[in-house]
Amino acid sequence: MAVTIRAQVNPEICRYPLGMTGGQIQDEDITASSQWSESTAARFGRLDFDTGDGDGAWCPDIMSEPDGFTEYLQVDLRSLHFITLVGTQGRHADGMGNEFAQRYRIKYSRDGSSWVGWHDRTGKQVIEGNRNTYDAVLKDLEPPIIARFVRFMPVTDPSMIVCMRVELYGCEWLDGLVSYNIPDGHQMIYRGLEIFFNDSVYDGATAQRLTKGLGQLTDGTWGLDDFLHSHVPGVWPGYDYVGWSNKTFPKGYVEMIFDFDHIRNFTSMKVHCSNMFSRGVRQFRQATCYFRSESEWESDPVSFRPAAEPPSQSARFVTMPLGDRTARSIKCRFHFSDQWMLFSEVAFQSGSAVYNTSLGPNKDGRSKKTLLGDDPTHKVDDSNTRILIGCLVAIIAILSAIIVTILWRQVWQKMLEKASRRWLDDELTARLAVQTQAFYFLNSSLSSEDGSTSTYERIYPPRADYQEPSRLIRKLPEFAECTEHIESGASCRAAISSDVAPHYAEADIISLQESSDNSSITAVSINLFAGSDSTLREFPREKLTFKEKLGEGQFGEVHLCEAVGMQDILDDDLSVEGGGESPFLVAVKMLREDANKNARNDFLKEIRIMSRLRDPNIVSLLAVCVDTDPLCMITEYMENGDLNQFLCSLRQKADREEGNDEVSYMKLLGMAVQIASGMKYLSSLNFVHRDLATRNCLVGKNDTIKIADFGMSRNLYRGDYFRIQGRAVLPIRWMSWESILLGKFTMASDVWAFGVTLWEILTLCEEQPYSQLSDEQVIENTGEFFRNQGKQVCLPKPQRCPERIYNDLMLSCWRRNANERPSFQEIHTQLTESMA
Ligand code: AMP
Repeated sequence: MAVTIRAQVNPEICRYPLGMTGGQIQDEDITASSQWSESTAARFGRLDFDTGDGDGAWCPDIMSEPDGFTEYLQVDLRSLHFITLVGTQGRHADGMGNEFAQRYRIKYSRDGSSWVGWHDRTGKQVIEGNRNTYDAVLKDLEPPIIARFVRFMPVTDPSMIVCMRVELYGCEWLDGLVSYNIPDGHQMIYRGLEIFFNDSVYDGATAQRLTKGLGQLTDGTWGLDDFLHSHVPGVWPGYDYVGWSNKTFPKGYVEMIFDFDHIRNFTSMKVHCSNMFSRGVRQFRQATCYFRSESEWESDPVSFRPAAEPPSQSARFVTMPLGDRTARSIKCRFHFSDQWMLFSEVAFQSGSAVYNTSLGPNKDGRSKKTLLGDDPTHKVDDSNTRILIGCLVAIIAILSAIIVTILWRQVWQKMLEKASRRWLDDELTARLAVQTQAFYFLNSSLSSEDGSTSTYERIYPPRADYQEPSRLIRKLPEFAECTEHIESGASCRAAISSDVAPHYAEADIISLQESSDNSSITAVSINLFAGSDSTLREFPREKLTFKEKLGEGQFGEVHLCEAVGMQDILDDDLSVEGGGESPFLVAVKMLREDANKNARNDFLKEIRIMSRLRDPNIVSLLAVCVDTDPLCMITEYMENGDLNQFLCSLRQKADREEGNDEVSYMKLLGMAVQIASGMKYLSSLNFVHRDLATRNCLVGKNDTIKIADFGMSRNLYRGDYFRIQGRAVLPIRWMSWESILLGKFTMASDVWAFGVTLWEILTLCEEQPYSQLSDEQVIENTGEFFRNQGKQVCLPKPQRCPERIYNDLMLSCWRRNANERPSFQEIHTQLTESMA
């Protein structure tokens, strides 16, 4: 091989981190299909990079995945790059993270509009990713890709959260070649052996000619002298070369068109050719290249005849001068000098883009890996050095200014947050009142937990059970401007951000409207969820007959209706209250007509969540009416209403009729067991209910209890991540201290709420939890949990509650340290055993 040969990129050297970790890739160039929350936005998806202001990785919003495989983290490298390696990592977040992508796929694009799915040389697309939250796993891209945009797409069970941090490795692709257009290679039979000279990694369209893609001619791997062998193990003979037989080219030449990113000034072209003339293969005899800057090919081509062939049969680069011609496309005709012509690489040198990759004389030293982060990726022509240095200085100055601004903003934000935190804490300290003696004093020595700052966003229904710690929260600087919106009942979040993105579910509704048929009962895939279990049925409104109003909730009225034909569309295995009865009664929850966009979105969210849940202790969603307004969800009818009312009426009845043992402890325990069972199911799906209370449980026949009201549910991890801005109206008497103070909603905070719900059950909802405390005192008590100085108070033991259940179960639900609270599995077991 001639020592002067140089290719455009050497994949063994071109393995530099491209700037996710190092920060050269700007935040605005890292985007994603979705994010759980602001703190898991795309910009936190940088490998080995944890600034502390986010939650340690990018995590997509699984709820927005239509088919489970479409979420992506996208990196825009701003120019074409040759990418040889990718790295991924999970969310560690100082041990708080649990999530990582075990498998993922890569998609890439050179222009941002047409995307190609990467696959390895065997056609496999899925890449094995991480096994834990901290180790970075690197994957060689074989074949490498040439792209400006790269998407990492976790392949995951749709109910699971994955989080990723990524890095790309490679070097800049100075060739500027964005596609080549060639006839695909032929098949040679040599001594009975089939040899395939097709372009097996071409990433464009493959019809008669290969168009709009790049492939083996630009993969940085040039063929061995003997074309039967390859650098790549386990591939077919001829793998490294794209080759043509002169029999199919009557004009005696193969025509190839090369398209570039912009108009360039071309100095030369290098073509790596096989020269095994003993097998009828020779380098080309002559090449004629035409140039095009606009629409027409220029009439004066450049022709070139290689010097007389050396006697050696070695494969070689042939360098053809292009005479500094200006073009955006080059069309070259390569004339046969023998029966076969085989190319393995084509490279162009243009303008200042002269490559200077130092290559070894041979390519078979594949084990010689270059350490990541070594030498620069390329050098440039001296003639333009000064201009380039000028540009670089300007760019560095601009970048420095941007970085300083970003850092300044971050520091400023942190100072604000700290001030807010101190403010809240001081407020709590100053205002904590002496508690009434009716409460049990908890003197635990639980470990202290990190108290990061957060405020609240969720808009809870304005019922008596939901209280707004607004006096405190409004004092925070970020809420100052929201006061008037809070007063007026409008969403502060909406007020802050007027361009709230449309809810993803709305598009689904449009498709529902298009596909549903009003006159008949049609099964419509609502497609609100990934997964096959989410087929929801559109039910014709005219088949619902109003009976009575059952109640009114956050979204609007709930009606009891007769549903003609409902039985026919239900799955047989669905256990529905009153399922076998006629007429078939259902509860229809309607979205009030004046509902704003947020309420509409929350309503749709409740539909999406409920459509996935199937458990004997979770209220079943039977169908929906979303073809026109008002949107309705049709659920099973629970004839005894909500548990709060039910318990109140039991208590009143017992008070009236002395000696009435209808409210035996066992019966109440049975209710708690059912709620624990429903919550066990939810926790198995990693769902956090966020609003567990007797008011949100419904009672059917034979004291069947089912959990309802999923409007506030979030996935477990979303609860972890939620960093929120805006108005707060919260069910504070059911909320754990960390939910109130830190905005953390987890299964452990659901366990806290279960403890309160159990307390409600065993007191027959005689009074509100902490009824002697004002809302402010409840929040102040929360501050005592946070401070952990033994001044926090818990709900007292209900009269009907055995000591054991109170001490071992109820109080354990209110442990300060969330990790020490029991799981729903344990609660369920404990309650079931105590019933035996
Ligand atoms: P919600 O909007 O879910 O809070 O419901 C408001 C009220 O309507 C509840 O408190 C119940 O009294 C009643 N309700 C809701 N859903 C049902 C149902 N499936 N069966 C019977 N009553 C219901």
